[in-house]
Amino acid sequence: MSDDILLRVSDIRARYSGAITALSGVSFTVGRGEIVALLGANGAGKTTTLKAVSNLLPAERGQVTAGEIVFDGRDVLAWRPGDLVRAGLVQVLEGRHCFRNLTVEENLLTGALGRGSTSRETDQDLDRVYTFFPRLKEKRRTLAGLASGGEQQMTAIGRALMSRPRLLVLDEPSMGLAPLVVQDIFGALRELNRTADLSILVAEQNSAVALRNADRAIVIENGVSVLSGTAAALRARDDIRSFYLGKA
Ligand code: ATP
Repeated sequence: MSDDILLRVSDIRARYSGAITALSGVSFTVGRGEIVALLGANGAGKTTTLKAVSNLLPAERGQVTAGEIVFDGRDVLAWRPGDLVRAGLVQVLEGRHCFRNLTVEENLLTGALGRGSTSRETDQDLDRVYTFFPRLKEKRRTLAGLASGGEQQMTAIGRALMSRPRLLVLDEPSMGLAPLVVQDIFGALRELNRTADLSILVAEQNSAVALRNADRAIVIENGVSVLSGTAAALRARDDIRSFYLGKA
């Protein structure tokens, strides 16, 4: 296997209890330093794919039934979610999931728990988050539940950054946010990718935004990865967008 590949997902199949087959052949890679977008219509299997990667399906009464997931050269299919985080594979779930009754900064600090870092390291990591998301510094004493949708999404991403990921996995970060806020968030993600050696895997229904910001994209249709290519190549193909991805 090439050293340039950080994550390799090979022909995974997954189902939920009640024999609902959600994935029946998803394959793709994320190279070191790459931003890769996972595209597909509502219900195509993007969230299931990301949950498989972080071994979060058992919590949903689902499981991967076949295939291989290799992160940084190691077969991680059966790893516990917490061990994946410590290995550098960190996910921001769909829907932001902030602790509403904690401040923005307290939320960020929860991302450093379990890593055993010194308070100095934690302070440095906080500073780094505030550099990429200056808005969070302004709002650090605000209860997350009172922050705007965009600030909550930034908080969720910032909390993930506090655990020092090498691969950041995001599920629909643009959902429900105004275009300018989405632009800010993707701008910060690109900057993190460029300057902080962070690889990114992002599922998006908003294919236009994803293709503007990713290096490569994979299209999932009915639980199968049907197409992949550079973002530039896919951007040029209007037929692909309307056929597989619906609007957006
Ligand atoms: P969305 O953009 O709506 O989240 P998606 O591409 O992420 O769509 P998934 O959420 O992965 O798609 O759904 C893939 C299939 O698995 C769908 O048929 C869906 O109904 C089913 N599914 C998803 N979550 C569960 C669950 N917890 N239990 C049972 N079936 C599920």
